[in-house]
Amino acid sequence: MFFVDSHSHLAFSRFKDDFKAAVDDNYSVDAIITRAADAKVKYMLAVATELSEAAELQAISEKFQNIFVTTGIHPQGAKKHCELYGLDEIARVVRDNCKRPKTVGIGEIGLDYHYERESEKQQKELFNLQLELATELDLPVSIHCRDASEDVAAILKDHPSSKGVIHCFSGEKSFAKKALDLGFYISISGVVTYKKATELQDSIKYVPTDRLLIETDCPFLAPVPYRGKLNEPAFVVHTAKKIAELLDVSLESVADFSSRNFSSLFQKAKGFL
Ligand SMILES: [Zn+2]
Repeated sequence: MFFVDSHSHLAFSRFKDDFKAAVDDNYSVDAIITRAADAKVKYMLAVATELSEAAELQAISEKFQNIFVTTGIHPQGAKKHCELYGLDEIARVVRDNCKRPKTVGIGEIGLDYHYERESEKQQKELFNLQLELATELDLPVSIHCRDASEDVAAILKDHPSSKGVIHCFSGEKSFAKKALDLGFYISISGVVTYKKATELQDSIKYVPTDRLLIETDCPFLAPVPYRGKLNEPAFVVHTAKKIAELLDVSLESVADFSSRNFSSLFQKAKGFL
Protein backbone atom coordinates (compact mmCIF):
# COMPACT_ATOMS: atom_id res chain seq x y z
CA MET A 1 0.00 0.00 0.00
CA PHE A 2 1.22 3.50 -0.81
CA PHE A 3 -0.16 7.03 -1.20
CA VAL A 4 0.37 9.85 -3.68
CA ASP A 5 0.16 13.48 -2.62
CA SER A 6 -1.26 15.02 -5.79
CA HIS A 7 -0.80 18.67 -4.78
CA SER A 8 1.98 19.95 -2.57
CA HIS A 9 4.23 22.98 -2.31
CA LEU A 10 7.57 21.65 -1.19
CA ALA A 11 9.79 24.71 -0.93
CA PHE A 12 8.41 25.80 2.44
CA SER A 13 10.81 28.72 2.72
CA ARG A 14 8.71 30.53 0.10
CA PHE A 15 5.80 30.62 2.54
CA LYS A 16 7.76 31.68 5.62
CA ASP A 17 5.74 34.84 6.12
CA ASP A 18 2.44 32.94 6.20
CA PHE A 19 3.35 31.01 9.32
CA LYS A 20 4.13 31.71 12.94
CA ALA A 21 5.81 28.33 13.21
CA ALA A 22 9.50 28.27 12.39
CA VAL A 23 10.37 26.95 8.94
CA ASP A 24 13.71 25.48 10.04
CA ASP A 25 15.91 22.50 9.02
CA ASN A 26 13.15 20.20 10.15
CA TYR A 27 11.27 21.42 7.08
CA SER A 28 13.99 21.08 4.50
CA VAL A 29 12.85 19.19 1.41
CA ASP A 30 15.08 16.25 2.48
CA ALA A 31 13.44 16.06 5.91
CA ILE A 32 9.92 16.32 4.48
CA ILE A 33 10.58 13.60 1.90
CA THR A 34 12.06 11.24 4.50
CA ARG A 35 8.96 11.57 6.70
CA ALA A 36 6.73 11.07 3.66
CA ALA A 37 8.53 7.80 2.83
CA ASP A 38 8.11 6.62 6.44
CA ALA A 39 4.36 7.27 6.11
CA LYS A 40 4.16 5.31 2.81
CA VAL A 41 3.64 8.45 0.73
CA LYS A 42 5.54 7.20 -2.28
CA TYR A 43 5.03 9.96 -4.86
CA MET A 44 4.42 13.68 -4.69
CA LEU A 45 3.44 16.31 -7.19
CA ALA A 46 5.08 19.65 -6.39
CA VAL A 47 2.81 22.29 -7.87
CA ALA A 48 4.09 25.67 -9.04
CA THR A 49 2.39 28.97 -8.30
CA GLU A 50 4.65 31.28 -10.29
CA LEU A 51 7.20 31.18 -13.09
CA SER A 52 10.14 32.11 -10.87
CA GLU A 53 9.81 28.77 -9.06
CA ALA A 54 10.72 26.70 -12.11
CA ALA A 55 14.45 26.33 -11.41
CA GLU A 56 13.87 25.40 -7.76
CA LEU A 57 11.22 22.79 -8.66
CA GLN A 58 13.40 21.44 -11.44
CA ALA A 59 16.25 20.90 -8.96
CA ILE A 60 13.93 19.11 -6.51
CA SER A 61 12.58 16.80 -9.22
CA GLU A 62 16.10 15.97 -10.39
CA LYS A 63 17.27 15.15 -6.88
CA PHE A 64 14.29 13.01 -5.88
CA GLN A 65 13.12 10.27 -8.25
CA ASN A 66 9.63 10.21 -6.69
CA ILE A 67 8.79 13.91 -7.10
CA PHE A 68 7.05 15.34 -10.15
CA VAL A 69 6.40 19.00 -10.82
CA THR A 70 4.08 21.32 -12.71
CA THR A 71 4.60 24.74 -14.21
CA GLY A 72 2.08 27.54 -14.19
CA ILE A 73 0.74 30.72 -12.63
CA HIS A 74 -1.69 30.87 -9.71
CA PRO A 75 -4.60 33.33 -10.20
CA GLN A 76 -3.34 35.46 -7.29
CA GLY A 77 -0.23 36.16 -9.35
CA ALA A 78 -2.11 36.95 -12.57
CA LYS A 79 -1.83 40.71 -12.42
CA LYS A 80 1.87 40.66 -11.52
CA HIS A 81 2.79 38.17 -14.26
CA CYS A 82 0.75 39.89 -16.97
CA GLU A 83 2.41 43.22 -16.17
CA LEU A 84 5.89 41.76 -15.76
CA TYR A 85 6.04 39.42 -18.77
CA GLY A 86 2.98 39.73 -21.02
CA LEU A 87 1.09 36.74 -22.40
CA ASP A 88 3.48 35.85 -25.24
CA GLU A 89 6.50 35.61 -22.97
CA ILE A 90 4.48 33.61 -20.40
CA ALA A 91 3.47 31.16 -23.14
CA ARG A 92 7.09 30.81 -24.25
CA VAL A 93 8.36 30.05 -20.72
CA VAL A 94 5.55 27.58 -19.93
CA ARG A 95 6.11 25.72 -23.22
CA ASP A 96 9.81 25.59 -22.48
CA ASN A 97 9.32 24.30 -18.90
CA CYS A 98 6.95 21.60 -20.17
CA LYS A 99 9.75 20.07 -22.24
CA ARG A 100 11.37 18.84 -19.03
CA PRO A 101 10.68 15.12 -18.52
CA LYS A 102 9.33 15.44 -14.97
CA THR A 103 7.12 18.46 -15.60
CA VAL A 104 3.90 16.48 -15.88
CA GLY A 105 1.20 19.17 -15.84
CA ILE A 106 0.27 22.85 -15.86
CA GLY A 107 -0.77 24.46 -12.60
CA GLU A 108 -1.94 25.67 -10.48
CA ILE A 109 -4.20 27.80 -12.63
CA GLY A 110 -7.74 29.11 -12.26
CA LEU A 111 -9.74 31.94 -10.73
CA ASP A 112 -9.76 33.39 -7.22
CA TYR A 113 -12.45 35.99 -6.52
CA HIS A 114 -11.99 35.71 -2.77
CA TYR A 115 -8.70 37.58 -2.62
CA GLU A 116 -8.33 38.98 -6.12
CA ARG A 117 -11.66 40.19 -7.48
CA GLU A 118 -10.05 43.32 -8.97
CA SER A 119 -7.79 41.31 -11.27
CA GLU A 120 -10.64 39.30 -12.79
CA LYS A 121 -9.78 40.33 -16.35
CA GLN A 122 -6.10 39.29 -16.14
CA GLN A 123 -7.03 36.12 -14.28
CA LYS A 124 -9.37 35.09 -17.08
CA GLU A 125 -6.81 35.90 -19.80
CA LEU A 126 -4.16 33.88 -18.04
CA PHE A 127 -6.49 30.99 -17.25
CA ASN A 128 -7.56 30.78 -20.91
CA LEU A 129 -3.97 30.99 -22.11
CA GLN A 130 -2.78 28.23 -19.79
CA LEU A 131 -5.70 25.98 -20.76
CA GLU A 132 -4.84 26.52 -24.44
CA LEU A 133 -1.23 25.58 -23.72
CA ALA A 134 -2.32 22.48 -21.80
CA THR A 135 -4.44 21.37 -24.74
CA GLU A 136 -1.66 22.10 -27.23
CA LEU A 137 0.89 20.16 -25.14
CA ASP A 138 -1.59 17.46 -24.13
CA LEU A 139 -0.92 17.92 -20.42
CA PRO A 140 -3.38 17.89 -17.49
CA VAL A 141 -4.07 21.03 -15.43
CA SER A 142 -4.39 21.54 -11.68
CA ILE A 143 -7.27 23.95 -11.06
CA HIS A 144 -7.50 26.45 -8.21
CA CYS A 145 -11.04 27.78 -7.77
CA ARG A 146 -12.12 30.06 -4.96
CA ASP A 147 -15.53 31.77 -4.96
CA ALA A 148 -15.48 31.54 -8.76
CA SER A 149 -16.99 28.16 -9.62
CA GLU A 150 -19.46 29.44 -12.22
CA ASP A 151 -16.78 31.22 -14.24
CA VAL A 152 -14.29 28.36 -13.86
CA ALA A 153 -16.86 25.84 -15.13
CA ALA A 154 -17.80 28.12 -18.06
CA ILE A 155 -14.16 28.60 -19.08
CA LEU A 156 -13.39 24.87 -18.80
CA LYS A 157 -16.34 24.25 -21.09
CA ASP A 158 -14.69 26.51 -23.69
CA HIS A 159 -11.70 24.14 -23.67
CA PRO A 160 -13.39 20.80 -24.27
CA SER A 161 -10.14 18.90 -24.86
CA SER A 162 -8.62 19.98 -21.55
CA LYS A 163 -8.21 17.46 -18.75
CA GLY A 164 -7.22 17.86 -15.16
CA VAL A 165 -8.16 18.02 -11.53
CA ILE A 166 -10.10 20.42 -9.32
CA HIS A 167 -7.59 20.83 -6.52
CA CYS A 168 -8.75 21.28 -2.91
CA PHE A 169 -12.40 20.72 -3.80
CA SER A 170 -14.65 22.88 -1.59
CA GLY A 171 -17.65 20.57 -1.50
CA GLU A 172 -19.98 22.51 -3.84
CA LYS A 173 -22.01 19.73 -5.43
CA SER A 174 -23.19 21.58 -8.55
CA PHE A 175 -19.57 22.48 -9.38
CA ALA A 176 -18.43 18.90 -8.85
CA LYS A 177 -21.12 17.70 -11.24
CA LYS A 178 -20.03 20.16 -13.95
CA ALA A 179 -16.37 19.25 -13.50
CA LEU A 180 -17.08 15.52 -13.56
CA ASP A 181 -19.23 15.93 -16.69
CA LEU A 182 -16.24 17.61 -18.35
CA GLY A 183 -14.09 14.59 -17.46
CA PHE A 184 -12.21 16.27 -14.61
CA TYR A 185 -10.96 14.61 -11.44
CA ILE A 186 -11.70 15.92 -7.94
CA SER A 187 -8.98 16.22 -5.31
CA ILE A 188 -9.69 16.15 -1.58
CA SER A 189 -7.49 17.98 0.92
CA GLY A 190 -7.20 17.83 4.70
CA VAL A 191 -10.22 20.14 4.97
CA VAL A 192 -12.36 16.99 4.80
CA THR A 193 -11.17 16.12 8.33
CA TYR A 194 -12.47 19.39 9.80
CA LYS A 195 -15.60 19.20 11.92
CA LYS A 196 -17.41 21.98 10.09
CA ALA A 197 -16.72 20.61 6.58
CA THR A 198 -20.07 18.79 6.48
CA GLU A 199 -20.90 19.81 2.88
CA LEU A 200 -17.58 18.42 1.63
CA GLN A 201 -17.95 15.26 3.73
CA ASP A 202 -21.34 14.70 2.14
CA SER A 203 -20.38 15.64 -1.45
CA ILE A 204 -17.49 13.23 -1.58
CA LYS A 205 -19.97 10.33 -1.61
CA TYR A 206 -21.22 11.49 -5.01
CA VAL A 207 -17.80 11.51 -6.67
CA PRO A 208 -17.00 8.21 -8.43
CA THR A 209 -13.94 6.59 -6.85
CA ASP A 210 -12.24 6.42 -10.25
CA ARG A 211 -12.18 10.25 -10.22
CA LEU A 212 -10.93 10.93 -6.68
CA LEU A 213 -7.44 12.16 -5.82
CA ILE A 214 -5.94 13.08 -2.45
CA GLU A 215 -3.61 15.96 -1.62
CA THR A 216 -2.15 18.02 1.19
CA ASP A 217 -1.75 21.47 -0.43
CA CYS A 218 1.09 21.67 2.11
CA PRO A 219 2.32 23.69 3.93
CA PHE A 220 -1.30 24.84 4.23
CA LEU A 221 -4.44 23.06 5.48
CA ALA A 222 -3.00 20.40 7.77
CA PRO A 223 -5.59 17.71 8.51
CA VAL A 224 -6.78 16.78 12.00
CA PRO A 225 -4.91 15.91 14.28
CA TYR A 226 -2.31 18.41 12.99
CA ARG A 227 -4.69 21.25 12.20
CA GLY A 228 -3.03 24.64 12.70
CA LYS A 229 0.46 23.21 12.28
CA LEU A 230 2.60 23.17 9.14
CA ASN A 231 1.24 20.57 6.75
CA GLU A 232 3.48 18.11 4.87
CA PRO A 233 3.02 15.17 2.46
CA ALA A 234 3.21 12.54 5.23
CA PHE A 235 -0.10 13.87 6.59
CA VAL A 236 -2.06 12.96 3.44
CA VAL A 237 -2.62 9.59 5.13
CA HIS A 238 -5.00 11.26 7.62
CA THR A 239 -7.05 12.63 4.74
CA ALA A 240 -7.16 9.17 3.17
CA LYS A 241 -8.30 7.69 6.51
CA LYS A 242 -11.17 10.16 6.73
CA ILE A 243 -12.24 9.39 3.14
CA ALA A 244 -12.17 5.66 3.92
CA GLU A 245 -14.42 6.29 6.92
CA LEU A 246 -16.86 8.45 4.90
CA LEU A 247 -17.06 5.97 2.01
CA ASP A 248 -17.08 2.97 4.35
CA VAL A 249 -14.18 1.31 2.55
CA SER A 250 -10.71 0.21 3.68
CA LEU A 251 -7.72 2.55 3.83
CA GLU A 252 -5.97 0.22 1.34
CA SER A 253 -8.79 0.78 -1.11
CA VAL A 254 -8.48 4.59 -0.88
CA ALA A 255 -4.69 4.34 -1.28
CA ASP A 256 -5.17 2.09 -4.26
CA PHE A 257 -7.78 4.02 -6.24
CA SER A 258 -6.33 7.47 -5.55
CA SER A 259 -2.85 6.33 -6.65
CA ARG A 260 -4.24 4.68 -9.76
CA ASN A 261 -6.20 7.84 -10.62
CA PHE A 262 -3.04 9.90 -10.27
CA SER A 263 -1.19 7.85 -12.89
CA SER A 264 -4.23 7.80 -15.20
CA LEU A 265 -4.38 11.59 -15.16
CA PHE A 266 -0.68 12.46 -15.06
CA GLN A 267 0.30 10.20 -17.96
CA LYS A 268 3.75 11.69 -18.31
CA ALA A 269 4.63 10.54 -14.77
CA LYS A 270 3.89 6.94 -15.68
CA GLY A 271 7.30 6.26 -17.20
CA PHE A 272 8.90 7.02 -13.80
CA LEU A 273 6.51 5.11 -11.51
ZN1 LIG B 1 -1.81 24.84 -3.97
